[in-house]
Amino acid sequence: MIGKSAQPVTKISECMTRKAELRSFIERMPKAELHIHFDSIDSEVLLKVADRNNLSLPFQTIQEAVEWHNFRDLDEFLHKWSLTVEVMLTEEDYYDAAYHLGKDMERQNIVRREAMFTYQAVHAHRVPLEVMMSGLEQARRAIRKDFNRELCFIADIDRTSSPESGIELVESIIPYADRVGIVGIGYDCQELGYPANRHRRAFELARANGFFLSAHCGEEYDSGPAGVWDIIQQMNPDRIDHGNQSIRDANLVRHLSESQIPLTLCPLSNVCINVYDDISEHPAIKLRDEGVFVTINSDDPPFMYDLVENFYKLATAFELSRTEIYDLARNGINASYAAYNQKQKYLKELDDWFFDELE
Ligand SMILES: [Zn+2]
Repeated sequence: MIGKSAQPVTKISECMTRKAELRSFIERMPKAELHIHFDSIDSEVLLKVADRNNLSLPFQTIQEAVEWHNFRDLDEFLHKWSLTVEVMLTEEDYYDAAYHLGKDMERQNIVRREAMFTYQAVHAHRVPLEVMMSGLEQARRAIRKDFNRELCFIADIDRTSSPESGIELVESIIPYADRVGIVGIGYDCQELGYPANRHRRAFELARANGFFLSAHCGEEYDSGPAGVWDIIQQMNPDRIDHGNQSIRDANLVRHLSESQIPLTLCPLSNVCINVYDDISEHPAIKLRDEGVFVTINSDDPPFMYDLVENFYKLATAFELSRTEIYDLARNGINASYAAYNQKQKYLKELDDWFFDELE
């Protein structure tokens, strides 16, 4: 009897060891993250900032914050997302939020992060752009010095804003691009009913001023492959943010495979907003198998899961090998907006680490 009951226990412990080893591999692997929203601010930072500004939040402790960040659907998520950021008022607040992203890069071994912010949607009514930019600039410098990691930014145009407001946003960002490390202009918020051609002039202005371009599209079922085609035709993007619905259109999958426009997929985010019931239904690996340039990202960690968890859950659900995980991390670096030399440096760091792991 003792022998029979001991065997399953051994198997369980072997399984747990394998899982722990996989998680550790993913945590230690040098990674880039290209799709994460600065505006989804860590709860610890929010509590500190709210206290400093004598403002209240819908939660008082980290434990309450964890529970409060649960949501039923995209509408509730967007409501909560815009609510938390309301406590941000000063340069110091923005510094703290951005510096926390750097600390988190250290924790997950993210060598480069390109974080999006949507100034029009959640900051403009409360804080002058200069206040926000000064905080981000100082945090970016401190992160380089303290962690030797690169935090860059992407300024998203709110799709629902007027064409004039989109142009104004790009014009206002131009003077900060170098100082704050704003490398791209993105396109975000409500997709359905707000096609890309409304902001074509803003995209052209962004291009003319050396910004890379990307857009959220093809995320939910209803926006579908048509949302991705719209962006490809109207924006000629350097990357597509999400784009998971592309899998439903064979012509689009072929086009993405031939053009090699990278997708910044966020698998667990799609599960959290109920696009898929389970990560095993996510098309990331199918798209990769069709030759599409796929990268893995988190989206909004305080509401969802971090980058390590996205890699881990995907690797577990699809039984990915260490080499497949490494290839996905390589894609992340290759699809980043880093300058050529910098990119080679990141790739070498990843390659050296991976080949050491194999020995
Ligand atoms: Zn996003």
